[in-house]
Amino acid sequence: MLPATFEYLAPGSVEEASDALRDDPEAALLAGGQSLIPMLRLRLARPSVVVDLGAVPGLASISSTHADLTLGALVTLSTVRASAQIRSASPLLHDASGVVADPLVRSMGTVGGNLAHADPRNDLPAVLVAAGGGVVVQSASGGGRSVSAGELFLGPFATSLESAELITAVSIPVSPFGAYEKFKRSAGDYGVAGVAVQLQLEGGRVSSAGVALTGMSRVAQRAGAAEAALIGSSGDGEAVEAAARSAAEEASPTSDERGSERYKRALVRVLARRAISRALEPTQEHPR
Ligand SMILES: Cc1cc2nc3c(=O)[nH]c(=O)nc-3n(C[C@H](O)[C@H](O)[C@H](O)COP(=O)(O)OP(=O)(O)OC[C@H]3O[C@@H](n4cnc5c(N)ncnc54)[C@H](O)[C@@H]3O)c2cc1C
Repeated sequence: MLPATFEYLAPGSVEEASDALRDDPEAALLAGGQSLIPMLRLRLARPSVVVDLGAVPGLASISSTHADLTLGALVTLSTVRASAQIRSASPLLHDASGVVADPLVRSMGTVGGNLAHADPRNDLPAVLVAAGGGVVVQSASGGGRSVSAGELFLGPFATSLESAELITAVSIPVSPFGAYEKFKRSAGDYGVAGVAVQLQLEGGRVSSAGVALTGMSRVAQRAGAAEAALIGSSGDGEAVEAAARSAAEEASPTSDERGSERYKRALVRVLARRAISRALEPTQEHPR
């Protein structure tokens, strides 16, 4: 099917892009196009104007301090995967970026688009939740503001962004102790389940823990009981097993063509055990 007719705008600044969104509530932003273009072609989206962010400067930078990694919204997943800076600042994000879809989708899809699309099967929302990160959003009239992962995702394909706001940057706390594990049925497919883990360790003990699940709920689901099972522990086998069991118990999967609820819980337990174990051993390279 061909898309319905729309106007095309290529603004030269964030302000111009935001103005275009404000002027027309039916306008849609285009980043990598990996989700929007299929929706246009299926006529699931019928925007009056497509506002292409591709010509907006300054949205593809990567920087880090000792505390935070900051990525421009237009940084692609393949750039994330290839970046040595990101690999050392956030092994969790490095891991997840390598298992999104296939190389074609990763070469076009952006971190901002992946989060803004808020598909519960997308992998980056759980990364943002587990790491305790957030996004910077801007609008021409309202200036900029930060939105935490917990505030961003409202439901499937729904975020708390106002209609004239766009994501300009993504911020992720730095930690060498992170990993993402995902199980998919076939190459290039969305996952049946994914588990994101990011820890901080002090004096050989887990001082803070973030665990979040992909595909288990209407939004990326934080696994608070799993986090509690890890905090204060040395990351020994018993604590890892208790956390994995908790993650499986608190997951909220539904049975569908990808598997039964029981199967998905069992999957979460295995993936959580693997992700936590790898997060605790940052020198261990993933076999993929
Ligand atoms: C075959 C296939 C398999 C896939 N498998 C996976 C997978 O396994 N895991 C996964 O995580 N993802 C998967 N995806 C989704 C992919 O990662 C998309 O790239 C991503 O969801 C959207 O990013 P994009 O840059 O292409 O955004 P676009 O498609 O350009 O936009 C998506 C939505 O976000 C909005 N948007 C884009 N950028 C911004 C911004 N800066 N601020 C505000 N709103 C914005 C757009 O208006 C649109 O509504 C898959 C996609 C395909 C086609």
